Amino acid sequence: MAQCAGIKRDGGRCVVVVGPGQSHCYAHDPGRTEERRRNASRGGKRGGRGRPQAELSDVKRRLSNLVDDVLEGRKDRGDAAVAGQLLNTYIRAVGVELKVREQQEIVERLEELEEGIRHRDGGLGVGSRGWKRRPRAGRCSFPRGTAR
Ligand SMILES: [Zn+2]
Repeated sequence: MAQCAGIKRDGGRCVVVVGPGQSHCYAHDPGRTEERRRNASRGGKRGGRGRPQAELSDVKRRLSNLVDDVLEGRKDRGDAAVAGQLLNTYIRAVGVELKVREQQEIVERLEELEEGIRHRDGGLGVGSRGWKRRPRAGRCSFPRGTAR
């Protein structure tokens, strides 16, 4: 059985077995870069932006209810203060989650671009112009662990 001719992100040979007549697996097929990008960005939009936004508006709704309850004497001020602090912490957590997801999305896009460039070593193809290959050991502005 044939093995994918692609190179993994860590520099090793891709071990995915490909069908007859194929030289690359889905992840390394240079002809499917655009397709992968579309899929990735669709998934990214669904998982990356929808949920945290819903969570934030839920927290805003609860905060404004809390304010009304306290002002109208329906809730103890001490309880409301604690609840407000917890909701505030929750908002910060959602904010961090949003940032992490955005960064992951950017890392994925970059890796796809790199992958596409690596497979077009001759400089053929749209999009390869203007992108310089940089050594993998170069300084990376993304947090360690996410750039794999
Ligand atoms: Zn592969």
